[in-house]
Amino acid sequence: MHNTGRSARFLADGRADPWDVDVPIFVWVSSTVGVCELRFSLMACTHLDHVLITELPEETDGCQECLLTGDPWLHLRICLECGHVGCCDDSPNRHATAHSRTSGHPIIRSIEPGEAWGWCYVDEVMMNVPQVHGQTRIPPSPLGG
Ligand SMILES: [Zn+2]
Ligand SMILES: [Zn+2]
Ligand SMILES: [Zn+2]
Repeated sequence: MHNTGRSARFLADGRADPWDVDVPIFVWVSSTVGVCELRFSLMACTHLDHVLITELPEETDGCQECLLTGDPWLHLRICLECGHVGCCDDSPNRHATAHSRTSGHPIIRSIEPGEAWGWCYVDEVMMNVPQVHGQTRIPPSPLGG
């Protein structure tokens, strides 16, 4: 059994090199584990240079846009390019995703207590963003989440 795809080279800091688009790389895969490793390497985020917020704010009042309209939110995400705080996709208004669509800013990070994952909307990959430090105090969700 074999599979075809393009291989990603990785820079010293763990970021994937841009694709070498003209040269298809044939990868022989002999096990299910091999498929998983291949998928993982293809899904690496290449947008970490968009991370401009490396120190999280000490405190936020909630989703900026929901606060303006009086709407409730469930969980909060921060845009790591500009610091916009928006609500998650389980919230009625999905302001974090809407912000990424309108601004083109690719990466958010959860600011829920105890959560430190990031998400790239372009690559649709979850990751750690180790250059981001701090913890933001957030109010309880109006929806009780
Ligand atoms: Zn990315
Ligand atoms: Zn919102
Ligand atoms: Zn932004």
